[in-house]
Amino acid sequence: MKLTGKNYIAGTISSEGKTTFKGINPSDASELPTTFYEATIDEVNEAASKAHEAFAIYRKKSGKEKALFLDTIANEILNLGDVLIERCSAETGLPAGRIVSERARTMGQLKLFATVLREGSWVNARIDTPLLDREPLPRSDFRYMQKPLGAVGIFGASNFPLAFSVAGGDTASALASGCPVVVKGHPSHPGTCELVSMAINKAAEKSNMPKGVFSMVHGASVEVGMAIVMHPQIKAIGFTGSTRGGMAIFNAANNRKEPIPVYSEMGSTNPVFILPEALKERSEEIAKELTDSVTLGAGQFCTNPGLVFLNNDENLQNFQKQTAKHFEETEAKAMLNKGIKSAFDNGIEHLASNKLEVKLLAKGKSSIEGFKGSAHLFETTAKSFILRDYLEEENFGPSTISVIADSKEELLASAKKMKGHLTATLFGTENDLNNYTDLIEILEQKVGRLIINNFPTGVEVCHAMVHGGPFPATSNSRSTSVGTAAIYRFTRPICYQNFPEHLLPEELKTENPLGIMRLVDGEYKR
Ligand code: NAP
Repeated sequence: MKLTGKNYIAGTISSEGKTTFKGINPSDASELPTTFYEATIDEVNEAASKAHEAFAIYRKKSGKEKALFLDTIANEILNLGDVLIERCSAETGLPAGRIVSERARTMGQLKLFATVLREGSWVNARIDTPLLDREPLPRSDFRYMQKPLGAVGIFGASNFPLAFSVAGGDTASALASGCPVVVKGHPSHPGTCELVSMAINKAAEKSNMPKGVFSMVHGASVEVGMAIVMHPQIKAIGFTGSTRGGMAIFNAANNRKEPIPVYSEMGSTNPVFILPEALKERSEEIAKELTDSVTLGAGQFCTNPGLVFLNNDENLQNFQKQTAKHFEETEAKAMLNKGIKSAFDNGIEHLASNKLEVKLLAKGKSSIEGFKGSAHLFETTAKSFILRDYLEEENFGPSTISVIADSKEELLASAKKMKGHLTATLFGTENDLNNYTDLIEILEQKVGRLIINNFPTGVEVCHAMVHGGPFPATSNSRSTSVGTAAIYRFTRPICYQNFPEHLLPEELKTENPLGIMRLVDGEYKR
């Protein structure tokens, strides 16, 4: 299990390029062993062409065969053992415990997709039987189901080196749908990318999958990623990362001769509203939980609560004092890489320099070691929030802004002014919630997940999850990148009209040989 630093292209390893880079330990800024070879454009093209060739075979694999592949990937990731945990922790500065739980989540989502494939009803089969006696014209036989799109390009984020990376949710959902993948390895955790690629290759071999079903190319410059996006045989993109990266890829894909769907999951500030009675009754508890949520993983979660709306009442000052005290006691934590740390510092400086609109209430402990970031708590007014767009922008890291409203009208106006976010949260008693149904109605139009009395960090991988939301949280609000519904990003519907039985896919045959749930003449049945 020795790292080679090479690219994984359709079952072979390759290092034709001259450009190299190294993994960096963000805890002390030291270089890690192994030199990584950035893929050449020829290597990227080879990966995409092989993925396209593999699609002809992989798209016909049964649900059971694909399920076995996904389960085997999960098992092979576990078989990497401590080597994976140690390398991943060294490359990201995230503690081993966090990596172990992220590995469990990564394996869990692969296995969850496997159960969906074995059950089979996800294809959303619909059958309208013929009406031969219909007047004035008879109706033909129509049968509908979801089918995979083709080879998919995947870009993972630095903050989830396993769960949103090489074998993360995007890869799991694309492979589940029947699409081969070409993954752009993240330069912030290249060794982790290689180890997981080894596991996927082993699983592909063991479960008899075509070689081009999986490739991973390294790159520390945008050219590698762009070559994937622009390749004519790539038919969709799954991206998790910054707004800048997500939009660059979205725009490039739309300007292709053949535009393709891009699912960019980008930044979000996840507004939290603490309603009056909840503030009065649970001030201490909420102040502590808020601090924990903002500083968890050095604040590097896309669901980090970056805006906290509060009413300017007699309980406000006490809450702010409690929260400030918790922030001040927080240790500085390693951020994922130099770029993220310096973007965070610039964001803090920008907020702190706008003294007329923003007040720094508290700063956590600091450290000059590696790329460590300190917690920051700011305060502004709803009046400023409504006027100034920069107050709604994500500052990726352990910071949050309290937004103080002088009236309920100001609170509602702030919510109305908001752009799209992944989540919005309300803390409230039953009474509070009944008094703020108008706020809930506004927020329903702004986010993908609406939460009551829980903080938004922690995204459950389940059937009912939505990890998405209106722009600019994502480039496509009609989807989710977490949970089993993520599979539909990489499929399209097809209708078979008047087909003879023997030419129909198993899912649509009249006797329902797979026993799946189908909508037959308007009625759901197996
Ligand atoms: P990133 O810098 O955008 O990088 C993500 C990937 O995209 C990398 O492989 C990167 O490669 C590539 N990339 C970036 N810009 C590109 C461009 N212009 N052309 C081609 N490829 C490009 O993001 P990150 O630092 O990994 O993650 C931090 C951000 O992700 C935060 O803003 C966070 O909120 C967001 N995030 C969102 C979610 C979500 O679900 N919405 C989840 C996690 C994180 P190179 O480095 O080689 O350019």
